[in-house]
Amino acid sequence: MSDHVTTTAAGNGALATGQQARPSPDRVEPSILFEARDLVKRFRTRGHTVHAVNGVSLRIPRGRTVGLVGESGSGKSTVARLALRLLDPTSGELHFDGVDLLRASRREMRALRRRMQIVFQNPLGSLNPRMRVLHAVGEPLVVHRIAKGRQLVDRVVELLEKVGLSAADLYKFSHQFSGGQAQRIGIARALATDPDLIVCDEAVSALDVSVQAQVLNLLKRLQAELGLSYLFIAHDLNVVRYMADEICVMYLGQIVERGDGDTLFADPRHPYTQMLVSAVPEFAPGREGERRHRVAPRGEPASPSNPPPGCHFHPRCSKATARCRTEAPKVHRIADGRTVACHLYDPAGEANGK
Ligand code: SF4
Repeated sequence: MSDHVTTTAAGNGALATGQQARPSPDRVEPSILFEARDLVKRFRTRGHTVHAVNGVSLRIPRGRTVGLVGESGSGKSTVARLALRLLDPTSGELHFDGVDLLRASRREMRALRRRMQIVFQNPLGSLNPRMRVLHAVGEPLVVHRIAKGRQLVDRVVELLEKVGLSAADLYKFSHQFSGGQAQRIGIARALATDPDLIVCDEAVSALDVSVQAQVLNLLKRLQAELGLSYLFIAHDLNVVRYMADEICVMYLGQIVERGDGDTLFADPRHPYTQMLVSAVPEFAPGREGERRHRVAPRGEPASPSNPPPGCHFHPRCSKATARCRTEAPKVHRIADGRTVACHLYDPAGEANGK
């Protein structure tokens, strides 16, 4: 299933690899900074083919956040790694600021890598325990030959202050920090090269709820100040909804529903989204205190090395029909601009082939 979708944003940015002035994050129609088209990633392991990502398309406007949500094994983290070219796709296209990432020269890629950074899930595990904060945060500045000596120290202090730490932390080691503070160091490191896009891969999942809120607010403040774009990946619906302008729901390597966060959670359409939203009962925007009609989670996701035929969700779907077991659904655009990959929204009405 391929689901190339047009979002609210206008056309692509200029073809350029250099750093460009960032537009204000509250522009009405921001241009597209990053675009993935029909991304496919298959892995061969022990004689099996794992269909990790199967036809994912997404566009991230400048200064905005696109959220990817789904259960573990849905392919979210593989999309993150493909987006940053930490993995090569089996097929598909990747564009960053108008540059075709799969055709970019090594020199172009090196320049572009400065502008695309990642914040990982495990803040303490992702920092080298033998590195002092100065070196952990300053390493990208050294690797990209942006700063050294006094200039490096000054820039790292500036970055630490941006994330709520201080010069007093410069010579500490990561084990001297709490999880939330360590994630602030991870964010400072991601900011070091002055990026345009940050991929947050389960960036707050390992943190306590109160600390999560602080780190999410920090990410929002940095976005407003710096005009950053985020690809925000999480399995926690509350977190994704808080952060994202547009949400893509992934199931077994495919985006099954996408739309504006509030609309999607207030009125989920795909049976899988309905199941996910229903599993978070406190989530009733504008209807706090009301109980949602609960759709009990059914079963476990199938293995990406052996996805079910037809609609991959059919073994877990309470609305599945005979057609769902044999025919993969197309992506249908529904009235509020959302897209849903489900036969129930086929205007021909045959999904429905009861
Ligand atoms: Fe359920 Fe069929 Fe829709 Fe798949 S296509 S989500 S099985 S109704």
